[in-house]
Amino acid sequence: MHKNFKGIEKTVFGRGSFNQLGDIIAPHRRENNRYMVFIVDNYFKGKDLESRLPLLPEDTVYFIDVDPHEPTTEQIDTLRDEILATKGLPSGIIGIGGGAIMDIAKCVSLMVTNEGSSTLYQGLDLIKVPGIYHVGVPTISGTGAEVSMTAVLTGPEKKLGLKCEWTVFNQVILDPDLIATVPRDWWFYVGMDTYIHCIESENGQFNNAYSHAYAEQSMKLCREIYLGENSGQTAENDDKLMVASLMGGLSLTYSEVGICHAISYGLSKILGMRHCYSNCIAFNHLADYYPEGVAEFKEMVAKHNITLPQGLSKDWTDAQINAMAHVSYKLDHMWNHAVGYDWKEKVTIEDIEAIFRRL
Ligand code: NAD
Ligand code: ZN
Repeated sequence: MHKNFKGIEKTVFGRGSFNQLGDIIAPHRRENNRYMVFIVDNYFKGKDLESRLPLLPEDTVYFIDVDPHEPTTEQIDTLRDEILATKGLPSGIIGIGGGAIMDIAKCVSLMVTNEGSSTLYQGLDLIKVPGIYHVGVPTISGTGAEVSMTAVLTGPEKKLGLKCEWTVFNQVILDPDLIATVPRDWWFYVGMDTYIHCIESENGQFNNAYSHAYAEQSMKLCREIYLGENSGQTAENDDKLMVASLMGGLSLTYSEVGICHAISYGLSKILGMRHCYSNCIAFNHLADYYPEGVAEFKEMVAKHNITLPQGLSKDWTDAQINAMAHVSYKLDHMWNHAVGYDWKEKVTIEDIEAIFRRL
């Protein structure tokens, strides 16, 4: 069986395209209780973008601070209950921010029509009925959350996405102007998430002509942005990074991520380390699995004077390392892709613990 994936329905790309948001959502304003919910990264509170939101008096805006923690099931349930209790079913949800805000927007759009807690729906195809119209506007690029079929939530038991066809955005607006203010270190870590998506997608058994074409183009863009003559955080490179993120996401969708993501999930789940940062921490030490990719990654790190901490594992307990290795070990699909269907004969919990001890 080949994967039958759903893509974004509509995409606008271009500098200033954020100004089209009002016109784009206008036809949907007749749906349900005739109001829109805007979910915006708190970074933009009081900034120019706030005054550019195409609000009508009936609309609701939530500014959310994503820094205390990644999106949680409890946070989504509370937000959903508040939205429904105040004005009933909205016409649509517009998420303006990074991976965290886009995931919140995706989840809320599903949870306003599906009863009970979002913990019930963490997994593949567990959502029962379609959600409502939802729009994603990335303001930091690299995770590919704008194009993916999943919306990742941390719950009491697991960190797992609500993954189904209806999770995918109906509309995405890619305006490179919006990512200009991303702090330099995050610009690097998040861009490396894209680069690592491509390296992992390419290096495994599920790679194919379709995923390869996207990875090849996305990596070309990453090289221009992070290694080229005109590398750095420039307007032209921001255009490229938005497209690279999208294509990296499409590549892994039709293939799979690999060992770096398996290790990174352990770091995030047990230590609360952020996704893109933990990928960089892990990838730095995976030269035996991805020799060319890691060598090039190290060139990028050096070129941009990024300091990645070393020797972190000396502060971790054996129990923590064991717990992280178990999180990784459970990500069967990633190891399958990277090592082969017989990966359990080749990779043990102790081997994975040894990878964590390198970090
Ligand atoms: P993020 O949303 O966590 O934001 C990172 C930081 O950048 C925050 O401090 C935010 O306020 C700030 N920021 C955002 N835009 C900015 C701008 N234009 N200027 C200045 N600061 C800005 O970042 P992320 O790395 O894009 O997302 C990580 C989240 O994405 C995690 O919750 C992870 O679980 C999720 N994720 C989802 C998918 C998916 O497919 N759904 C894939 C990977 C990661
Ligand atoms: Zn990733």
